[in-house]
Amino acid sequence: MAKIGINIATGSLQQAEMIVGIDLGTTNSLVAIIHPESKQPVALKEHNGSSLVPSIVHFDGFGNPTVGEAAKAFMETDPQNTIFSAKRLMGKSFRDIKENAGFFTYKVIDDDADSLVKVQVGNQFYSPIDLSSYILKELKQRAEHILKTPVSKVVITVPAYFNDAQRQATRDAGKLAGLDVLRIVNEPTAASLAYGLGMNKEEEKTIAVYDLGGGTFDISILRISNGIFEVLSTNGNTYLGGDDMDRAIVQYWMEQAGISLEELKQNKELSQGLRLRAEEAKKQLSGQDSFSVDWNGDQLSLSRETFESLIRPLIEQTMQSCSNALKDAGLTTADIDTIVMVGGSTRVPAVKNAVSEFFGKPVNDSVNPDEVVALGAAVQADILAGNNKDFLLLDITPLSLGIETMGGLMDVLIPRNAKIPTKVGRQYTTQKDGQSDMRISVFQGERDLVKDNRKLAEFSLKGIPGMPAGLPKVEVSFLINADGILVVKAKELRSGVAQEIEVKPQYGLTDEEVEKMLMDSLTHAKEDMQVRALVEARTEGEQILDVTEKFIGKNASLLTKEEITATATAMQVLQLALTMDDKNLIHTKIEELNEVTRPFAERAMDAAISGALKGKSITS
Ligand code: AMP
Repeated sequence: MAKIGINIATGSLQQAEMIVGIDLGTTNSLVAIIHPESKQPVALKEHNGSSLVPSIVHFDGFGNPTVGEAAKAFMETDPQNTIFSAKRLMGKSFRDIKENAGFFTYKVIDDDADSLVKVQVGNQFYSPIDLSSYILKELKQRAEHILKTPVSKVVITVPAYFNDAQRQATRDAGKLAGLDVLRIVNEPTAASLAYGLGMNKEEEKTIAVYDLGGGTFDISILRISNGIFEVLSTNGNTYLGGDDMDRAIVQYWMEQAGISLEELKQNKELSQGLRLRAEEAKKQLSGQDSFSVDWNGDQLSLSRETFESLIRPLIEQTMQSCSNALKDAGLTTADIDTIVMVGGSTRVPAVKNAVSEFFGKPVNDSVNPDEVVALGAAVQADILAGNNKDFLLLDITPLSLGIETMGGLMDVLIPRNAKIPTKVGRQYTTQKDGQSDMRISVFQGERDLVKDNRKLAEFSLKGIPGMPAGLPKVEVSFLINADGILVVKAKELRSGVAQEIEVKPQYGLTDEEVEKMLMDSLTHAKEDMQVRALVEARTEGEQILDVTEKFIGKNASLLTKEEITATATAMQVLQLALTMDDKNLIHTKIEELNEVTRPFAERAMDAAISGALKGKSITS
């Protein structure tokens, strides 16, 4: 039975366990709920305070964390112990962030390896998951304080381009903070929900969600029809946002004041001080034409015109992403019905103008761009709470997912841009007689050979009962749940032996890497196809040799001497062909061998052999 509680703040009755929506942002985070009376999403704020909690964690000399505004105050005075933009590190290795390592004023451990990054504060090491969990814990406490009710069930949003590792890291951070993460939702989907888009079932719309936050940019093309959200394409840049605008201003001021990069690097307080002034300037320039401040006796000033010329390249980059996203969705700007603006940086008039000009339409910016994602998360939470059953949320996979089959080939089970949640199953078989283990290697990418793709996981299905090659039926199924987490299962259908794993990749892929993987697959398409054809021909040839050899061994007594000699010759010729890089030759020789063996194979067709000739097998 559901417990009923009383919200002391509002005096209203409500369910004791409320599901809240959380936007865990790069710069700021916040919590939103559906107001129990108005039924509208609202961002939670302390009395007279802001709804935004800076995503910043400061550690004191004893390693005690402080989060939010209180931590932000230390950015200038104690930069080494003040961690900002931890979201950029989620699911990343040092190698992933190497190029941008200079951005962090705190110590990111440089192990130049593929393992996940850690941040060092004093003699303590923190993972981005730890850091995010401190932020989430603070949000939980805030929400409980405001709502006067325990809060543990949450929906958390992540950028659309977050991969499995990053989504999992976000879930883990929630768990660490004592939260039950019911759903991970893509930010653009949440933003659309906050605008009430799709609420009317008749409505059919194509929406562009332009999200320029503090540290990340992404553009998503969504389609809503029959109350169903579908992400048609996404594009963006994990290293582009308001922070970059701040950096551009800092650089400009440095040039003006003749401060060298070296000086700035040496003096963390100077760099943080300039950064905060730059952000102040940027924000003011959204509403006025010039900015000026006295800082340590120096005058820091900036005109809107100069600011706009400084950020023009950044804006251009986002426009390029918009073009790419449209192209991926197979659409043009004319197909976009609605443009939704998300993220604090879309308050910059030059950004708004550029987006509106690009799409040839006014943009939608009536909902606070800092709160819109959290508000949408609250709407999603409400749907999960069962209050709005009309919705289904669909997202897409950015890269194809598959497993390694014979000869190192990629066998795609879930293609790129497939809608999720999704489930796909396919049958495989063994290559060797009595094979009891089957290795399942899971890859992500668009290339035909797994060596050119990215390995996500590997496991062995053990305990397959001894059977001739080709007889076991191993069903491999891929399930991507609504959070975008991949679960791979393998089951031998005859014996019921099964094994499954949840894929938590070691480290993440940046948007650029995803793009590169896609580009590579295009530039190598022809060569890949040729290699695939050759590998497939060789595999087939090897299998046929194997099967024929066994057949002859088993049935020699049934065959004439001539038949045995002719078969042996045809096998030798095929064996030779396998050593050459000519798939046509291999196919010809396979055919020739088949010609020789067909008459007697038909005579004594064995189920095991016919099985082995069909279906793909996986290397053991
Ligand atoms: P978000 O990641 O969505 O919280 O976005 C925060 C970013 O928006 C930061 O880079 C802020 O500096 C920026 N921002 C907030 N308010 C404004 C404003 N009025 N004008 C320009 N940028 C802003």
